[in-house]
Amino acid sequence: MMILPPDGGCLCGAIRYRVSTPPLQAGYCHCRLCQRSTGAPVLSWASEISINLTTLDEPAAIVPDHHIWTSSRIGWFEVADDLPRFAERGPVSPNQPKETGLGE
Ligand SMILES: [Zn+2]
Repeated sequence: MMILPPDGGCLCGAIRYRVSTPPLQAGYCHCRLCQRSTGAPVLSWASEISINLTTLDEPAAIVPDHHIWTSSRIGWFEVADDLPRFAERGPVSPNQPKETGLGE
């Protein structure tokens, strides 16, 4: 559940934003692009607005509900939840996850 309107921004404060509609999806991405751009093994994100959830002032305001691109998951980073996992891109609709096993 998302509490509207969550605000967010960058570390230096030069960029601020407000989310005005609930995201269509929220998940964790393990792809190499996200790993390289954030310097972290996984990125929590929401679409269609494409925001990094950790840039929200209240990062828990939007809760990820699946993992995508687990085919790129780094071996030493273990995921300790039971959320659906997808080896590549995720579900088309957030309400119709199409689980593909462990996705790895
Ligand atoms: Zn990614």
